Amino acid sequence: MTSVVPFHNVAKSGAIVVGSGLAGLTAACQLISHDIPVHLLERSAKPGGNSIKASSGINGAPTKYQPVSDDSFYSDTVASAGKAMSSMTTQREKLISTLTNKSSASISWLVDTKGVDLSKVAQLGGHTHPRTHRGVGQNPPGFAIISTLLKSLKESPLFHLRTACTVTKVLQTGGRVTGVEFTYPDGGKEEIHGPVIFAAGGFAGDAEGMLATYRPDLAGYPSTNDPRPGMQTLLTAVGGQLIDMDMVQVHPTGFIDPEKPLLPLKFLAAEVIRGEGGILLMNGKRFVNELDTREKVTNAIVTMPSNSTYPRQWSVQVVLDEGVYNAAKSHIDFYIWKGLIRKSKIADLDTNALGSIQQYAAVAAGEVPDPFGRAFFANWKLTDPTPQSVVYVGNVTPVLHFTMGGVVINEKSEVLREGEEKIEGLWAAGEITGGVHGGNRLGGSSLLECVVFGRIAGDQCAEYIQKSKPQ
Ligand SMILES: Cc1cc2nc3c(=O)[nH]c(=O)nc-3n(C[C@H](O)[C@H](O)[C@H](O)COP(=O)(O)OP(=O)(O)OC[C@H]3O[C@@H](n4cnc5c(N)ncnc54)[C@H](O)[C@@H]3O)c2cc1C
Repeated sequence: MTSVVPFHNVAKSGAIVVGSGLAGLTAACQLISHDIPVHLLERSAKPGGNSIKASSGINGAPTKYQPVSDDSFYSDTVASAGKAMSSMTTQREKLISTLTNKSSASISWLVDTKGVDLSKVAQLGGHTHPRTHRGVGQNPPGFAIISTLLKSLKESPLFHLRTACTVTKVLQTGGRVTGVEFTYPDGGKEEIHGPVIFAAGGFAGDAEGMLATYRPDLAGYPSTNDPRPGMQTLLTAVGGQLIDMDMVQVHPTGFIDPEKPLLPLKFLAAEVIRGEGGILLMNGKRFVNELDTREKVTNAIVTMPSNSTYPRQWSVQVVLDEGVYNAAKSHIDFYIWKGLIRKSKIADLDTNALGSIQQYAAVAAGEVPDPFGRAFFANWKLTDPTPQSVVYVGNVTPVLHFTMGGVVINEKSEVLREGEEKIEGLWAAGEITGGVHGGNRLGGSSLLECVVFGRIAGDQCAEYIQKSKPQ
């Protein structure tokens, strides 16, 4: 069954957005702000993608909650991108300056225009300043942002959401993208015509497909991402280029559920736990600056022997005191409720733990320097640890978390062919794109990339539609 919605019925008035994560919803909001109807296609039964699970927050500097002048966001991002900066340097620099320069306006758009609470700011690994925003309430930031944007979109008569339909092809006429083909679970097929914003997410949940192709060495790692295939191939089929496809972020801390320790889909142990002062122990000993980049923390873990081959996992403990617990209470209470963190005493941990925690308490109190170079201890309050001191403990292991690689875009979110020529009628935003983060994404910068480049894509696509309307 193929039913075709004629091009002129959609293109003159509307745009197609593929994917209902933060990038897709942001683009849709922006299109609607220009009075452009949006047809949003989503393969899952429920909207929100991996974005709805985001738990640490979104970066921005300066903002009304982080007013200190902060010029280092750009340089932190370049430093984190690492060696990748040596290729396509100018293009990467433009993407990174767009990301960081528009971060302030993005937070203000979410807070002041959309009404999302992002009033709490924390410092995550690899950042030289606190700049990751989340709300004070119970809802994690991903859920808070996605539910607010969805609610506002659903109030608009211009918003048309179709769930449980998978885009299978991008349609092109004379080098210009003119729509997409999509299928329903019953095998039904349709086309819808118009300019397209692709926001179908990354491929960290595509263990058997794109991950196996680009990073066979990571086969067998558990993942925090929904299991689904990567969609970059739909864009290369119309001329899009790929970049950094082997750059996969392994997050150092996914929870090992004591009830289902070998389940490959893991719950993320949010970076905010370490950001608020928590530490990592292996055999009761600290082994790394917990606020170092994810890559460095992960490398410090995986160079040690693993304790399971499928999934490939290591046994690390994340340990917090009451101060950290109180600062991240909404997160930790949720993890306790899920059985992923337990309230305990230092005496119940590995025999090395007491000495390690005593040393960390002295470091946090400024009595001695940290042997691992950690300089930020946030809300760690325990000054005199004893075997009876209360701690909160969970078992964690590295997990596949984010794919830095994807389709090449420019700072206008246009998808580029070889030679940096744009593909007319096609934009992309969010994790499906590559180049913004280089070799390592900073925590909080993915939600930011969705908002920054999703808004740009929405604006650009709206302008394209308005220009192509008969005068
Ligand atoms: C557990 C977890 C916690 C995280 N925490 C943070 C955080 O605190 N801060 C941060 O910055 N980042 C965080 N991230 C990363 C961040 O959430 C994602 O990178 C980002 O949300 C990706 O957004 P997106 O819109 O590009 O893709 P997604 O949110 O994944 O949305 C893509 C959507 O496209 C749909 N789709 C895919 N293929 C098709 C198709 N063919 N047809 C139709 N629809 C399709 C998918 O079903 C999905 O709904 C986290 C990720 C995870 C998994």
